[in-house]
Amino acid sequence: MLHRRRFLQLGSLGLSAFSFSSFRMPAASRKPIVISTWDAGIEANKAAWKILRNGGRALDAVEQGVMVTESSLNCCVGLGANPDRDGHVTLDACIMDEHANCGSVAFLERIKHPVSVARRVMEKTPHVMLVGEGAQQFAVAEGFPLEPDKLSDDAKKSYENWLKKSEYKPVINIENSKKSTAAVPTRLENGDWNHDTIGMVAMDAEGNLSGSCTTSGMAFKMRGRLGDSPIIGAGLYVDNEVGAATATGQGEDVIRICGTHLVVELMRQGLSPENACKKAVERIIKIKGAKAKEIQVGFIAINKRGEYGGYCIQKGFNFAVCYADDKNFLVDGKYIL
Ligand code: ASP
Repeated sequence: MLHRRRFLQLGSLGLSAFSFSSFRMPAASRKPIVISTWDAGIEANKAAWKILRNGGRALDAVEQGVMVTESSLNCCVGLGANPDRDGHVTLDACIMDEHANCGSVAFLERIKHPVSVARRVMEKTPHVMLVGEGAQQFAVAEGFPLEPDKLSDDAKKSYENWLKKSEYKPVINIENSKKSTAAVPTRLENGDWNHDTIGMVAMDAEGNLSGSCTTSGMAFKMRGRLGDSPIIGAGLYVDNEVGAATATGQGEDVIRICGTHLVVELMRQGLSPENACKKAVERIIKIKGAKAKEIQVGFIAINKRGEYGGYCIQKGFNFAVCYADDKNFLVDGKYIL
């Protein structure tokens, strides 16, 4: 209730209040920096940080960071994840650099590192997005091995469990009922993941920004369903003049507001990363009305000064922040409902 009241009060102050607070400059620009969604972000940040601390490019950091999560077979991201309702794991990912170059793959099967395929799309084709069979064909032509068409043991168990009712009910907000504290996401007692995505944004020592986002999407989704994660401007957006943002949660509602593009544009208007994420969350809540309680969406963002922030609809979202060898920590996302 307190949160709601505060949200209404802040809302009535309007944009100028946010703009005012954002003009309080931090003592110094913080770079390099990397942030990523959820607790799996701790491990992913470590890999990204190795690159950033040695003067590497943010683009390499955000690719190699999320590859850690994609590699973990017992994870909600990558080939170990829950399948769609026809029993196939389909993966979505995208990446974007400081020049607004971007690449994306969606509905990709049997490839371990969709984020790297997305990078190849960006670097080696005149396109932004490849999907399904075509994306897989491109990946294989680029030398990515075709992995066996097989569910991990845990995913198989959880799919068999789901098949008993075959209820098509998106369950994105399960972290609300039981929060994981594991460094790599773990399966909940009912067989579901606490979340399905990792999104990462980083600024390197040169001050250049990049971002990545990779997911298996919603568990037991309709075959062919895509969420926000592979969509530039929805699951990820980078503008090297302003900042970068990524999203997690119910993808349909992130797409509806072009979520991360909105966050970056709000930062351009002077909002801090946290307030920009908050405004985007508020917009979803306004659209969804009473149904907002049934979903979770979280945004995280950084700006060119190395300030970071995140916001979500309801309690249970966290993100990992790293800007020094001994500074890689989880932050609980502030929430509105
Ligand atoms: N945003 C992802 C999707 O809708 C899911 C997630 O973030 O957990 O596919």
